[in-house]
Amino acid sequence: MSDAKSSSGSLFMVVAPSGAGKSTLVNALLAQEPAIKLSISYTTRTPRPKEQHGCEYYFTSVEDFLVRRESGEFLESAEVHGNYYGTSRLLIAEQMNAGTDVLLEIDWQGAQQVKKQFPHAVGIFILPPSIDALEERLNKRGQDEPHVITRRILAAGSEIAHASEFEYVIINQEFATALSELTAIVKATRCRFVQQAARNTSLFAQLGIHANLS
Ligand code: 5GP
Repeated sequence: MSDAKSSSGSLFMVVAPSGAGKSTLVNALLAQEPAIKLSISYTTRTPRPKEQHGCEYYFTSVEDFLVRRESGEFLESAEVHGNYYGTSRLLIAEQMNAGTDVLLEIDWQGAQQVKKQFPHAVGIFILPPSIDALEERLNKRGQDEPHVITRRILAAGSEIAHASEFEYVIINQEFATALSELTAIVKATRCRFVQQAARNTSLFAQLGIHANLS
């Protein structure tokens, strides 16, 4: 018995320094759990080869981004590695209200802003097994200019310093292990009282379980 109800969706935030393998992990999770919707952010970054507008990001100009930010369109936004990134408030609200689980791939600054508005949001930080591994992944990926890679490697230390702000930490040493840990977090979150109560209102009422879901 499951009656999807307003706000029964879970909000996941996956955060990592560039090169930790976050997108690969998230894509594998979404292939296994198609019910989770990945939020598509706005960015002023130039598209990488093979990236498409409306697929990985909504690519936009700095002017357009700032107008949207000024009008309150973003749930959160931040400047990361010299570009702006932001999450659409409307898209998230629509999906969460429909009871859909939503996943945000954002940076630590954005995660702090989201947590203030959604205290139940689940923060997951992905760590590389070493700094060397991170550098190697960034270089191998070959999708960014050398100066962009250097900038991202230099930023990694200060990003990693924010890992302690997250409920969960996954060390992406062995991909299969990291993916099963990520999946386990998703499944455990869905079993939290607040999510179960919101999803199964009739059952909870029938069983006389009174839930304060605020
Ligand atoms: P990339 O340029 O490699 O796609 O992303 C660079 C960084 O920006 C990553 O840490 C990524 O998670 C973060 N990012 C992507 N979208 C958003 C967003 O909407 N908000 C925030 N705060 N960070 C984002």
